[in-house]
Amino acid sequence: MNDEKRFAGKALECPLATKDVFENTKNRDWTIENFGYGPLNPDFPDEGFWEKKAELWKTDVCTAQTARCANCAAFDKSGRILLCIQNGINEEGAADPTKVMGLANLGYCQLFKFKCAGARTCDAWVHGGPIVDGEETPDVNGEMGEIIEQLHDASDKHKNQAIRLTSLMEDTNR
Ligand code: SF4
Repeated sequence: MNDEKRFAGKALECPLATKDVFENTKNRDWTIENFGYGPLNPDFPDEGFWEKKAELWKTDVCTAQTARCANCAAFDKSGRILLCIQNGINEEGAADPTKVMGLANLGYCQLFKFKCAGARTCDAWVHGGPIVDGEETPDVNGEMGEIIEQLHDASDKHKNQAIRLTSLMEDTNR
């Protein structure tokens, strides 16, 4: 693992689960077991899952479905964490990190220490999230990542520009 990566001029200390898929899966599975993290496929109705959440919160299914990782106060979408997740996916070499992150709306759960998907939830959901960078520190990396993602979907010329931009962004963060 490369610990030399930097963010905003400081050494980038990433949570272990953002770089180690086994640690991430261990913590995720523990959260499924103990705090009902899920559902497996948020695009599927999975009525049983949401009925249990509604029962827990003594509310109806529609209201329960409004409480997701994406708006949980433990869901970390700060630029620093997003860069950690992006670098972690790069190191695993499994897929294009910007696509994976965009499709899954990935963030980092600061409560249970794993990468979670915005559309899921758990019993410990905390109102008021997500965690994002303050106005004084604009999420330049996030915005750059978005632009790069769009360029990857365009022509070969634009794909080359995306690669150059990624490299420039990494140099800036060192
Ligand atoms: S604590 Fe929040 S961010 Fe973490 S898994 Fe539960 S709902 Fe998601």
